[in-house]
Amino acid sequence: MSQKVNKTSDLNNSPKKNLKITISIEVYNNASELSAPDQQLLQEAKEATHSAYAPYSQFFVGSAILLEDETVVRGNNQENAAYPSGICAERTAIYYTGAQYPNTAIKAIAVVARRDTSEYLPAAPCGACRQAMLEYEEKQATPIKLILQGEGEKVYVLNSVSDLLPLKFGKDNLEQ
Ligand SMILES: [Zn+2]
Repeated sequence: MSQKVNKTSDLNNSPKKNLKITISIEVYNNASELSAPDQQLLQEAKEATHSAYAPYSQFFVGSAILLEDETVVRGNNQENAAYPSGICAERTAIYYTGAQYPNTAIKAIAVVARRDTSEYLPAAPCGACRQAMLEYEEKQATPIKLILQGEGEKVYVLNSVSDLLPLKFGKDNLEQ
């Protein structure tokens, strides 16, 4: 016995609803428009690009983390001949922070990239880094500001890592 499915009818009766997710990004024309602490942190991230180890991609990424006690932790990408063994600048910095300052809250993270020129480039965090940073934001239960180099001279500021990761997977998913 077979059943005939009327697909057109199914679509018309669909209970589907659209969920729209919006995020807010502050856009600054250049770094000089940022607050002094944000400018300083972005500068730290730029300087961190110069000690990146990126012989394969020649794409040098720097990150800088500002802690609540004003400590700054720099990170940069660390590549490896066995490519997947390398790690991004953001995770280099945030895992070091987690290891060395486990009880000190993170206020902000700046990220910037550079090739072999002095021009700085955008480098929005990859998915894995968004997930890693979100873990620490949830752990400390206060938002972590993101300061990202944008196109040209522009700078993007987001007030929470969670803004970059809608429909996140977090510790709540593992609670029974
Ligand atoms: Zn990454």
